Amino acid sequence: MCDLDGVVYRGETACEGAVEGLAVARSAGLPILFLTNNAARLPTEVADHLQALGVEAHPDEVLNSSQVAASYLRQHHPVPDGKQVLAVGGPGVAAALEDEGLSVVVPAQVVEQGGTQSVAAVVQGLGRNLGWADLAEATLAVSSGAYWVATNTDATLPLERGQAPGNGALVAAVAHATGRQPDLVTGKPHPPAFEIALQRLGLPAQDVLMIGDRLDTDIEGAGRAGLATALVLTGVHGRHDVAAAGASQQPDHIVETIVDLGAHWE
Ligand SMILES: [Mg+2]
Repeated sequence: MCDLDGVVYRGETACEGAVEGLAVARSAGLPILFLTNNAARLPTEVADHLQALGVEAHPDEVLNSSQVAASYLRQHHPVPDGKQVLAVGGPGVAAALEDEGLSVVVPAQVVEQGGTQSVAAVVQGLGRNLGWADLAEATLAVSSGAYWVATNTDATLPLERGQAPGNGALVAAVAHATGRQPDLVTGKPHPPAFEIALQRLGLPAQDVLMIGDRLDTDIEGAGRAGLATALVLTGVHGRHDVAAAGASQQPDHIVETIVDLGAHWE
């Protein structure tokens, strides 16, 4: 199980050791799942990006936090017949909900149908074109008692020029307006991400290694879910962060790049 940003790529560039390391894992016959908190991009877009970098990847091997939200909602919090899920965010949010067979409505359609009466749940993920009108519909539905799912609560989204608001900042806008907090957060480090990811792999936690670059999401969440963990030093956190982190964020392995894990697979 492999995180993407800071593990496989940074922007348009592959991380050192990632292409070779994942090729070694493939040739050893290991199933691979790319698990990302990015809710906005479609699995096909992510797979195309990986292929362009030279990493073999199929859309079925990509699981984003919108897909986790959709699958978790269907399994654990079914939407009653005749009710809808309001998709707030980029195209990845609505697409994931539709793929799970849920009845989806987007904010503009809520206005057309005259209100949020039929909205039983709200799934809120990042969308770069998200505006006030979208947050207004989310706020109205949440205030009316809809079950509120946030795909992730990352405060920031890293851009080339610095930190922009992440989904957590937009979730905070709805929380501030409604006086409520999300009923469920699905992305790493939260349990739904790992539950749905293990289902997709069809493997028990003890048979899976999570490769990540963040101690507070990838490593802590996977460790809590019972997976083995490896921190690669191609992304956000380094050895000094490990030294400063608490017991729940200690990785089982620390390697410079993914290719250094090859020794464990041979
Ligand atoms: Mg990362």
